[in-house]
Amino acid sequence: MRRFRVVGAGVSGLSAALLLARRGARVELLSREPEVGGLAGSWRFRGVPCDLGSHRLHRDALEVPLLREMTRDVRFIERPRRGALVLQGRWIPYPLGLVGMLRGLHPRAALTMGLSLLRGGTLPVGAGDVGFEAALVPVVGREAYEVFYRPYAEKVFGVDAREVSQTVARLRVSTSSPWTLLAGAAGREAKVYLYPREGFGAITRWLEDACLRAGVALTRGVSWDRTYPGESVERTLFAGDLRGLVTTTLAHRGLHLVYLAARGEHLTAVETLYTPEARYLFGRVGNVGGYAPERAPPGETLLCVEVPEGRHGPALDLTAGEGYRALRAQLDHCGALPASAEVLALEQRFIPGVYPLYLRGWRERWRETLARVPAAVIPFGRQGLFLHCNTDHCVALAREAVDHAWEHGTPQAWESRAERWLSVRVRD
Ligand SMILES: Cc1cc2nc3c(=O)[nH]c(=O)nc-3n(C[C@H](O)[C@H](O)[C@H](O)COP(=O)(O)OP(=O)(O)OC[C@H]3O[C@@H](n4cnc5c(N)ncnc54)[C@H](O)[C@@H]3O)c2cc1C
Repeated sequence: MRRFRVVGAGVSGLSAALLLARRGARVELLSREPEVGGLAGSWRFRGVPCDLGSHRLHRDALEVPLLREMTRDVRFIERPRRGALVLQGRWIPYPLGLVGMLRGLHPRAALTMGLSLLRGGTLPVGAGDVGFEAALVPVVGREAYEVFYRPYAEKVFGVDAREVSQTVARLRVSTSSPWTLLAGAAGREAKVYLYPREGFGAITRWLEDACLRAGVALTRGVSWDRTYPGESVERTLFAGDLRGLVTTTLAHRGLHLVYLAARGEHLTAVETLYTPEARYLFGRVGNVGGYAPERAPPGETLLCVEVPEGRHGPALDLTAGEGYRALRAQLDHCGALPASAEVLALEQRFIPGVYPLYLRGWRERWRETLARVPAAVIPFGRQGLFLHCNTDHCVALAREAVDHAWEHGTPQAWESRAERWLSVRVRD
């Protein structure tokens, strides 16, 4: 019987372990945490399984076979998208349409953005990395860049946006670039999404159950490294943090999540508020009941406030003192939660390693890092390949890693296969 080890029990590791076991392999799956699920997992707040930040599936995610199979057991509901972007004190419907975007900008910014659009600028591709700013300004205009795109990048990554790679513009901004807007980013596909009735964590719970039924040996609370004394295996498929595998200068930024319960129902009219401006510590506020209405406890509104680590670092306390006062004032200012609302409960947690920090020239360092990975290890998943990607991408990539391991592929073949995933566009 062929033997494999899979490291990391997020959606990537669980999917790979399941697919290997279904091929008849003996599979050991190691989870660092007692709970499986990784970023797509959940945790209980006010008795409700809450997601780790705003999570949803787009309809085309069900083209991935494992996710489609899951719909037999996991009840996905189709929800209308009711998001808003807060820009200069106004709420603009999100996902953005061109009209909304131009309306939300000062007339001058709208004019320069319109002119840039007419000039037909496109994001650069190719070897030289001109950086986020130089890539984006010709496309969206200087004013729109300053109002919207620059503060967003600096909030998430905590560095000067000129140092951020042009890749970030391609991966994260393209849904709101003028051309995409004109092409109808706010069309039907963007207006609905799928959400498991029991919360996003239902996806990884289903994978975990399927793994156990398929005979995967799951060990919890083990952080794997190359000195791990387990039984010998053909290959280790590694969906853990690449930095735990090899020495690298590639770095991540984390995310603070503040969960807040306030007395009163429907205190926030939308399911997600997007707040790119620098005046807000947070970049997004999710309204738990907005995703699956019956999940909010009666008489309460549950919010998940996403505060990127950015320049703040991991030691930022928003539950007391000055931090809490600033948070409440900003939630009131953007319209997420009135200052008069009574807060019944508040908890904060920090998730490290959420956003890969793509600085200019990062791609060369990525290749150097991958070249140092031992031949018997196949790095994959968001952490293993240093990717910005969605859940369905992780499941599809796990399938590729399994095929590669099964076919005895070489590290060079995997590197070129993996490289394609670096340019996958993130949908939010
Ligand atoms: C705020 C936020 C919002 C998102 N929204 C969406 C969305 O709306 N839709 C969508 O499809 N996707 C969304 N995503 C992306 C999605 O959550 C991730 O792409 C996906 O969950 C990543 O899965 P993964 O298994 O590759 O990595 P992870 O979930 O990070 O799992 C890796 C696991 O490996 C463990 N590990 C690390 N190192 C080791 C080690 N040495 N030994 C053992 N274990 C180790 C970690 O503890 C972790 O549990 C979002 C992500 C974030 C952060």
